[in-house]
Parts: sequence; C-alpha cells; structure tokens
Amino acid sequence: MFIGHFALGLAAKRAVPRVSLGLLFAAAQLADVLWPIFLAIGLEQVRIDPGNTAFTPLDFVSYPYSHSLALLIVWGLVFGWIAAARRWRVFAVIFTLVVSHWVLDYVTHRPDMPLYPGGPKVGLGLWNSVPATLAVEVPLYLAGLWIYFRTTRPLDAIGRWSFGLLAATLLLIYVGNLVGPPPPSVTALWIVGIAGSVIFLAWAWWADRHRDAI
Ligand SMILES: [Zn+2]
Repeated sequence: MFIGHFALGLAAKRAVPRVSLGLLFAAAQLADVLWPIFLAIGLEQVRIDPGNTAFTPLDFVSYPYSHSLALLIVWGLVFGWIAAARRWRVFAVIFTLVVSHWVLDYVTHRPDMPLYPGGPKVGLGLWNSVPATLAVEVPLYLAGLWIYFRTTRPLDAIGRWSFGLLAATLLLIYVGNLVGPPPPSVTALWIVGIAGSVIFLAWAWWADRHRDAI
C-alpha cells in the first residue's frame, strides 16, 4: 500500500491537530522509510519481478526488520517515545500509525509480511487485483484528505497550494508506479526510496506549518 498509509497520517491530524503532518507521515510510513535504508546496507532483500502481483513488480524476498509485525511494534514504541516526549495522546497516535503500516500492508501484500523475523509470513493479497486495490486505496486516501482539510485551514498561499500540490503529487506517483516501467535496479529503487522519504516528509512538514488547526 502507498497512498493508504498517507491517508491514515492525514486522518490522524484530527486526533492530534498540534502535531506536524510531517511527523504523522513519518510514523505511518516508518516501515517504508527504514526499508530502502536496510536495502542499501544489505540487511533486507528485494527482487524486481514484473507480475509478482498485478499491482507491483517487486518480490519482497526478506524484510523482517522494517516490515514484521513484531519489529514495527518495537519501532512504534521507540519512535513514539522519542517523538511524543511524554504526551501520551501523541504517543498513542504515533504508535498506532507505525503499527497500522503492517496492517495495511498485510491486507495488500501477498503472504510475504512476516509476523516476526524468521516467523510465518502472511498477507491477504489485495494486490492480485488492480481494480480491488484502487477501490480500497483511493477512497481511503480521499477520506484522509477530507479529514485533514476539515481539521486545518491555510494561513497563507503556501498553506493552500503547497499542500494541494503535495496531495496531487502523491496520487500521481501512485498512478505512475502502476502504469510506468518497473525500477531499473534495486540500487535505483533504494536511492529513489530514500530521496522520496526526505522530500515528502520535509514537504509535508513545510506545507503543514503554513496551515493551522481549526
Ligand atoms: Zn510498506
């Protein structure tokens, strides 16, 4: 899942309006922020395999540290502890977002999602059908956007346009991944992954700073 994770980050703004969208996105996407780093250092493995599922050309050979349920619970506790600084509501939201990544990926991935390193792998395989994936993920994303728009208002033109552009760009990348060619190499994949994390988290933080909770 891609934009579905962002959807939960957007919706979480309602629960903790004072917390930056950049942080909420980082929590919802923490698994996919860690994953390209772990690929780069050889801790985890992926294979480019067009047709692996209808939706993605990637075969997630091994990613127990970024994508197992057990480790995401640990990452959620650690990230929540660091980011929330004892604001318990914020802690609960961040922890839930980090772990939600596993739940959403469990729904979409074929059975390649580990429960714990070396443990059984599960997945409901929504990605076997492109229409079914779009039918779940796009409405989820639109709902997240709607909640975010109802929770915040722009302070200036940056708050209005940079956020709209971010929302549209994420959707465009999602569609582009679907219709575009597979990544040329695993190296290209993790470079784009790391760069993408930096750009989109910074962009979300910047756009959100120019909006205020209603
Ligand atoms: Zn993921």
